[in-house]
Amino acid sequence: LFISIEGLDGAGKSTQMQFMKSFFQEKGLEVLITREPGGTIIGEKVRSIILDKQHEEMASTTEALLYAASRAQHVTQVILPALKEGKVVLCDRFVDSSIAYQGVGRQLGYHVIKTINDFATQGLSPDLTIFFDIPPEVTLQRINREEVDRLEQEKIDFHRAVYDAYIDLAKQDSARIKVIKADRAIDGIKKDVEKLLIKIIGE
Ligand code: C5P
Repeated sequence: LFISIEGLDGAGKSTQMQFMKSFFQEKGLEVLITREPGGTIIGEKVRSIILDKQHEEMASTTEALLYAASRAQHVTQVILPALKEGKVVLCDRFVDSSIAYQGVGRQLGYHVIKTINDFATQGLSPDLTIFFDIPPEVTLQRINREEVDRLEQEKIDFHRAVYDAYIDLAKQDSARIKVIKADRAIDGIKKDVEKLLIKIIGE
């Protein structure tokens, strides 16, 4: 069982992932929590190039290919072997992140991002994706309460585009991507997550 977790920064993904982990463990299942680059040496190296972009202008196309490369290594070395061993794999961000951030946020387009990622993942797609839905105006306010200057406005516009992309994806693929409102108390969110998990593996 392969589950990916998506959402903007500050959406509360990590807290819910810990809860999901306990849920499956209580059912006697082995769980792997992972995120790109998944601790692979090659993936870490690729990731460090991506993070270096603060010091250098990186082309969006390069960024998209590096994310895909890091993901390819993660899928081959970590995710597929774990799934083969019968583990439940909970992955913090997967292809939908690239579609939202690089495809829409960086305006490279849905199709090209989908294509390079189909290649990178060998066509592996999550059985379930949970999108924690919290609007960017709220997460950015949490992170930074300073006055909205021009840069801040750009940031909001970028995250708004990413957010809208996620909502679109969820509409297009509603069988796989489930949306959970995340702008509320943790317990309510947990209950909705639990309902989804029960639906997928039974009581
Ligand atoms: O996973 P985490 O919340 O730490 O992601 C941090 C940031 O990495 C995101 O807010 C986004 O700016 C960036 N990111 C990206 N493209 C991806 C995945 C993450 O630009 N495919």
